[in-house]
Amino acid sequence: MSQLGTESAFEVLARASLLEAEGRSIVHLEIGEPDFATPPHIVAAAEAAIEDGYTHYTPSGGIPEVRDAVAAHYSSRLGQEVTGDRVILTPGSKNILMFAVMALINEGDEVILPDPGYPIYASLVSFFGGIPVSLPLREESGFRFHADELATLITDRTRMVILNSPQNPTGGVLLQEDVVAVAELAVKHDLWVVSDEIYSQIAYDGPVPSIASLPGMLERTIVMDGLSKAFAMCGWRLGIGVAPAELIKHMETLMINSSSCATAFIQVATMTALEAPESEVSVARMVHEYRARRDVVVDGLNAIPGVHCHLPGGAFYVFPNITGTGIGEQELADGLLGEAGVATLPGTAFGPMGKGFLRLSYGKDIPHLEEGIKRIGEYLTARQR
Ligand code: PLP
Repeated sequence: MSQLGTESAFEVLARASLLEAEGRSIVHLEIGEPDFATPPHIVAAAEAAIEDGYTHYTPSGGIPEVRDAVAAHYSSRLGQEVTGDRVILTPGSKNILMFAVMALINEGDEVILPDPGYPIYASLVSFFGGIPVSLPLREESGFRFHADELATLITDRTRMVILNSPQNPTGGVLLQEDVVAVAELAVKHDLWVVSDEIYSQIAYDGPVPSIASLPGMLERTIVMDGLSKAFAMCGWRLGIGVAPAELIKHMETLMINSSSCATAFIQVATMTALEAPESEVSVARMVHEYRARRDVVVDGLNAIPGVHCHLPGGAFYVFPNITGTGIGEQELADGLLGEAGVATLPGTAFGPMGKGFLRLSYGKDIPHLEEGIKRIGEYLTARQR
């Protein structure tokens, strides 16, 4: 168990909630969860599915009709033929990652993953005996990796590369040339790729390229996706995996050994989420609002002396550089929570490359964000006096 990591967002949320219970006012910029309500047409579809009796176990990979509908959605999104036997539905996308690592990583296998990056990647890889290898993402490159650097990290023990675009925690987005470079290396060195696309629909500069859309890559890619972020459905728990049929069969066995199946009526509502015309409108409306929030947060942070914030291209996170304040990231995050009443995360919660950064989520409305930025500015001004 000592190998298993955690997500500090949940820990900071717990600390912030304790302070609130003591009567303190806290601005929550820590947890990566949209504040929007789930679009009503999806709620209605789930309610109707309960009424229709979708309250029983389903096949472990998902209801065949739903898998086929999800496959059709990914066929058009990826421009590659995806069939239902290449799709699995799980309670949240984290299961897809866990199952991929359990199925493919042996003791001592190396897995290249983004640093800073979603902490669960390194946690699961280590837990199942693999060796996480950090691929640095730097601010000056818009938090994209360098393909040359990636090439130097590959050894004869490398088995998998994990990509995430748009990215948590930086909001960075990979370009077509980046995914092409990874695909070439993956083919050359016979590697698996996990492509975490959970934020793919929250992008501000057009569609985000998927490595799975490149010729031949569906055979060695596990797309990790779900309804949590794009549809404001974190608490529903519905993850979607797209992978070669042979691997999906093993993932189904892992489902039989763990959750049995994803919740039946949520599977049915997934078809509505992915297909209904209202979904497109709802997602576009949310992305429009996220963009406005992003601009408020980035402008606000850049106006604070000692803080520099890169403009992210997607997701709902900013990753400001705070080295100019002269305060370390953990000390600053602690001070902001304890003294200023703003919950943020230290960049190092996402890997060593997060040193000198904070991560803020803008899953909250603009007045909330403005209050948070005001408190951060006042706190830093008072400290620098
Ligand atoms: N991947 C990334 C990069 C995330 O940030 C998160 C959640 O914060 C997840 C996956 C997990 O999402 P889900 O709710 O589908 O388990």
